[in-house]
Amino acid sequence: MFLINANVLDGKFCLRKADIEIEDGKIVRLEDSLPYKEEDLVVDCAGYTIVPGFVDVHVHGGAGADSSDGDAEGLRNMAKFLLTKGVTSFCPTTMTVSDAEILKALETIRSCMDDKEGAKIVGVNLEGPFISPKKKGAQGDEFIQAPDYDVFKKYYDSCGGIIKLVDIAPECDVRGDFVEKASKLCTVSIAHTATDYDGAVDAFKKGVTHATHLYNAMSGLAHRAPGVVGAVFDNENVCGELICDGIHIHPAVVRTTFKLMPERVCVISDAMRLSGVEDGGQGMLGVNMVTVKDGKATLPDGTIAGSVTNLHAELKNLVSWGIPLETAVRAMTLTPAKEIGMENEIGSLAPGKRADLVVLDENLEIVAVYHLCFCLCRAALTAGHEDRIREEQKGKKICIAQIAEESYPKTARRAFAGGSPHSPSSRRTHSRCSRSKTTAHPRRIFRCRRSITRSRRCNTRCSDRLHPCTVC
Ligand SMILES: [Zn+2]
Repeated sequence: MFLINANVLDGKFCLRKADIEIEDGKIVRLEDSLPYKEEDLVVDCAGYTIVPGFVDVHVHGGAGADSSDGDAEGLRNMAKFLLTKGVTSFCPTTMTVSDAEILKALETIRSCMDDKEGAKIVGVNLEGPFISPKKKGAQGDEFIQAPDYDVFKKYYDSCGGIIKLVDIAPECDVRGDFVEKASKLCTVSIAHTATDYDGAVDAFKKGVTHATHLYNAMSGLAHRAPGVVGAVFDNENVCGELICDGIHIHPAVVRTTFKLMPERVCVISDAMRLSGVEDGGQGMLGVNMVTVKDGKATLPDGTIAGSVTNLHAELKNLVSWGIPLETAVRAMTLTPAKEIGMENEIGSLAPGKRADLVVLDENLEIVAVYHLCFCLCRAALTAGHEDRIREEQKGKKICIAQIAEESYPKTARRAFAGGSPHSPSSRRTHSRCSRSKTTAHPRRIFRCRRSITRSRRCNTRCSDRLHPCTVC
């Protein structure tokens, strides 16, 4: 399969016009121009930008599910939801819950690691329980434990070593051996901590190389007290997570952080189960009830409790705040991949790596997501197997806009699990128009591609049979 004529963010994170050859879910070649045979499936991506699939190493939940639930079906729904947001790899992130709940969650996550649908689980982020009760945020204090390597090792072994990140408040490590031992097994992150600059520097010397949601639940930077934030700025071995939803951190601080350490920023969502669910909902985060209003997730006392954002929304935020696209994408692809030791498999577009690709239009809206040989189309919001597309389109050169415009009746979407979304009957209904929510331009709620090509804007729900668009 070939994707040609695209603006590609290549392995060095430079935007250039290039072709990509994909075989068996891996990138085979990425060059300025590639020869292809007549029988090859060729997708013309002229005018579109291809970036690596996003990697979210800190995400609790989405689509109503939470990683700590120990519910495989919920986890699968979460993975499918994340894929619609361009996330192709993620680390389900556990909360500070009981020992039994953590063990059950780890076992469930491990059982879902080979799933083929949805974003791929690439490990676990253990956010609790080794944190400080003084900076617990939305974590439940009932189950907070002092860092204990033996307990961590029990968790680690119970799930076959899939833990990629573990959080720790270093001042609570009374034995003082946690970081040195745990950092031999996975990345250790400073988090939910009441320590100061010196305490953070000491932890970095022992082997902490990551900072969980920088600025949040830690001491900030002041001119005579640099705090944990100052220690992260000052230590080139440490990568800092940023939640870029515009609520957790002011855009000016996000910009400043990118200027200070552009290749040490790891954008995360820290999303909880109400991500992808209608605003105004309520749901549990660990042991706490969280309410979402106006896109802000809070505990009853007003404490911010996770987020309801996703990496795609954060990418659009970052670019609108003045961060170059290349820098923003790197911070949610290659940098997180490095933080979990998977940069040789995922995180950038280079031969030999997994063909996890996100195709973006000029408004940074997702047109299609390629992942594990699946192609997820924007309008359909469902997964069509590449082989099926290959079968139908064999020998044809198709345009990515054609894929983007594939839109199917809701009944067909529901039935898609076993059926073909490309059947003639499902094509008939919406062959011309796609309905796409353009959040970057709220006034344009729905738009019609055909009307755009005529330089006219469609203001009706053209894909809704009850309100047919007069233009189409
Ligand atoms: Zn979190």
